[in-house]
Amino acid sequence: TIILGLESSCDETAAALVSADGRILAHRLATQEEEHRPYGGVVPELAARAHVEVLTPLIEAALADAKMTLDDVDVIAATAGPGLIGGVMVGLVTGKALAHATGKPLIAVNHLEGHALSPRLADRSLQFPYMLLLVSGGHCQLLHVRGPGDYARLATTIDDAAGEAFDKTAKLLGLGYPGGPRVEQAAARGNAKAVPLPRPLVGTAEPHFSFAGLKSAVMRAAQSGQYGADDIAASFQQAVIDCLVDRTRRQLSAGHPAGALVVAGGVAANQAIRAALENLAADHGVPFVAPPLWLCTDNAAMIAWAGAERYAVGLVDDMSVPARPRWPLDPDAEKARGAGV
Ligand code: ATP
Ligand code: MG
Ligand code: FE
Repeated sequence: TIILGLESSCDETAAALVSADGRILAHRLATQEEEHRPYGGVVPELAARAHVEVLTPLIEAALADAKMTLDDVDVIAATAGPGLIGGVMVGLVTGKALAHATGKPLIAVNHLEGHALSPRLADRSLQFPYMLLLVSGGHCQLLHVRGPGDYARLATTIDDAAGEAFDKTAKLLGLGYPGGPRVEQAAARGNAKAVPLPRPLVGTAEPHFSFAGLKSAVMRAAQSGQYGADDIAASFQQAVIDCLVDRTRRQLSAGHPAGALVVAGGVAANQAIRAALENLAADHGVPFVAPPLWLCTDNAAMIAWAGAERYAVGLVDDMSVPARPRWPLDPDAEKARGAGV
């Protein structure tokens, strides 16, 4: 079984071909970093237009790389949310058109499920259930992953996402866009003990994350003129690590059955964060799994793979499936939203 995956929820357009046994036959990606750089962040309207321009050529290129035609594809998987709605619609409508024209099944993939299952594409020995720290540009969550479509959200951020904190810190320090990798580079040159910064919610009994107070403290440190950018970056990154490790440790100690500690999402590309989580997993005697860096940030291989996992358990969608700007992974958060929370 061959799955074509499409991704267009933020500022990367991507198409990939993955087999149901986890072989990545082709993956193509076009990033819009240059388009958005002058604005210091993603401009939704520009993003949607750019997706329209490059998605079809990327699909053709991926098919050519795999020496395949659409006839060889068995399933079409497209991101249907969450994300910037204009971009999501481009990928989902393209997926619907391809599925309609070819008569092949369509799978509407939650982008977060793409991140959540990407570690199983990277490491085919990873079994359910596992403890997942999902850290990305828009999310910071601890999830108990029990199977495709079967998630319990144990913790989430009460304000900013971890990646958002990296991006805002980069902006404050004048490091440019996109921020995460640049903060990591600056941090490697700085002293993590140089700047006293808070660790919001660390040690508290409730399970959640918070990064807004850290961001404000970074702003004050930058404006004080007392510290160099590298030292602020290093101290900020260490504060984030301490928060992530503390909150994750709390869940590892809570007795959820988990065969591994897993990290995914764009922030999981950070080497210092990976190293700290690897140590935490070792302390708890569980294996640690993190996808290769390119599979952490947005890509279509993870969308094709989530499509493969859903298809294998019979989770197919029909043409009426909507594009959704917000779309929690777990049913409880979904219900709370319905209740207006
Ligand atoms: P979401 O997945 O929540 O919808 P997104 O798709 O925009 O958001 P991802 O592509 O998964 O986010 O991740 C991008 C985020 O990861 C950005 O905030 C970026 O700064 C961050 N990031 C990327 N590389 C690193 C790194 N090396 N260190 C820290 N953060 C990083
Ligand atoms: Mg991006
Ligand atoms: Fe993402």
